Amino acid sequence: MPTDAPDQMKITYTTSAADMEKIHAAFDKALEKVRSECGRDYPVYINGKEVRTDLPPIVDTSPIDTDLVLGRFTSATVDHVNEAIESAYDARLRWEKLGWRKRVAIMREAANLVRRDKIEIAACMSLEVGKNRMEALGDAEEAADLIDYYAQQMEDANGYEQKMEKLTPIEDNTDLLRPFGVFVCIAPFNFPMALGCGMSSAALVAGNTLVFKPAQDTPWTGLKLYQIYREAGVPEDVIHFVSGRGSVIGDALWQHPKVGGVVFTGSKEVGDRIFKGFSEKWVKPCLMELGGKNACVVMDSADVDAAAEGVMKSAWGLQNQKCSACSRVYVHRKVAEEFTAKLLEKTRAISIGDPTERDVYFGPVINPAAVATWERAVEIGKKDGTILHGGQRLTEGPLEKGHYVEPTIIKAPPTSAVFKEEFFVPILAIAEVDSLEQAIAETNDVEYGLTAGFFSNDKAEVEKFFDEVEVGVIYVNKRSGATTGAWPGAQPFTGWKASGSSGKGGCGPYYVMQFMREQSRCVIEE
Ligand code: NAP
Repeated sequence: MPTDAPDQMKITYTTSAADMEKIHAAFDKALEKVRSECGRDYPVYINGKEVRTDLPPIVDTSPIDTDLVLGRFTSATVDHVNEAIESAYDARLRWEKLGWRKRVAIMREAANLVRRDKIEIAACMSLEVGKNRMEALGDAEEAADLIDYYAQQMEDANGYEQKMEKLTPIEDNTDLLRPFGVFVCIAPFNFPMALGCGMSSAALVAGNTLVFKPAQDTPWTGLKLYQIYREAGVPEDVIHFVSGRGSVIGDALWQHPKVGGVVFTGSKEVGDRIFKGFSEKWVKPCLMELGGKNACVVMDSADVDAAAEGVMKSAWGLQNQKCSACSRVYVHRKVAEEFTAKLLEKTRAISIGDPTERDVYFGPVINPAAVATWERAVEIGKKDGTILHGGQRLTEGPLEKGHYVEPTIIKAPPTSAVFKEEFFVPILAIAEVDSLEQAIAETNDVEYGLTAGFFSNDKAEVEKFFDEVEVGVIYVNKRSGATTGAWPGAQPFTGWKASGSSGKGGCGPYYVMQFMREQSRCVIEE
């Protein structure tokens, strides 16, 4: 029953201002609470048991202020990973035999618990990732919807079990989808709740057991997700939590022979390594959602203000650290000047600072490596083109202790590396084009194929863009975000080319079945 209590309100990335006062008050309270919990030591969880080591922990600091230690997380070892996988392997038939209806009930409870805690989880993500309030709240809300959506898929498919035709009167034929066994789930830093939750809940509801590794920049949010699953009723041997460094335990996670499948969201570099190394003895499912270099095309028939607004939001939301972020624009020469002027005006107007504050839109990047990548991209931009906005690190006053850089717009020829490489930091490249054909060719001339935005008021142009652009997600005339904004059950999220492995993505109707394999059963009854 919806009420007007803040934790019961549906909050999305584009929620109107109407209920914001209550939400902000609740966020302030939650922030105070999670701040009071900072600096604690956390174990890894194997079989529900707390495990600690003498190894130096992962010291989880806030990108807003690196003096703020959010927590010290145990660095799992390869032995821990092996133990977790063995235990998950032993539990796999029991979890499957529990039956899909009971698993669905547990998952729905997990969704309820995410909703119960969503403002606190959002406050935690704001500190840990540097998300602004709405981005953080949207991430938590999406996580709950993802669990429900995947549970619904099991229900709608009747657990993926069906009676089949008989070839002879004496046979009984059944076809069912069954889990693979142990799934390893490896999450990136940027959507630590929604993506961790989406991948893991689909694997679990399908009947797989799980070893979960969050990114080393976001173990705090990852642990909150693990705790919610356990509270919801996921047994201790069905889910295991291993915070650790990818460089230490990453390979061990997928090299263990008892792992049946990997679900991974992260960079192309790491994804390639896993995909190529995983299937040593036989081909195993390796569900990968990888990077993007997402273009927006602005045609001369477009609503130029909507295009500039949409690009501004998709380029600077979460400091361009979304796989769907807009990082390049091809604008028709006839409207290039007007578009660029509006984009610059809107970019200058964004508020930069501590993203836990209510009116701040643009926060820090995640870590020093991201700052170095940003500096390298700025140098490429200076060499190949012109910096239209930004280009400086921000180190003054309250920004001194955080990883702050300016949102940076570079005008360059489309051949420049600023149009080809995924930097995953606030860099936006702009080039002018003369035709739709040229814009489509440029859009496709990268290895990635995740999202694209298109602004045009010509239906034939829109159809041509849909047909010829090689990406999994296309948004047309979307002022609220030119290339961003997936949501479970509404806008699925699939990467083509180097952006994904299966061609069927999260938030969509084909997701859960990828965590299962078919078994045909024929019984002769004479
Ligand atoms: P990343 O560096 O690839 O890390 C992703 C995860 O892989 C982390 O948990 C990391 O652990 C782990 N890892 C590192 N080495 C490993 C290995 N050898 N084996 C197994 N796991 C290993 O990515 P990120 O920087 O967290 O996230 C940004 C990237 O994710 C971008 O490329 C972005 O486009 C992509 N992304 C894609 C989507 C999508 O849906 N397509 C969504 C979000 C993000 P450590 O953190 O400990 O290194």
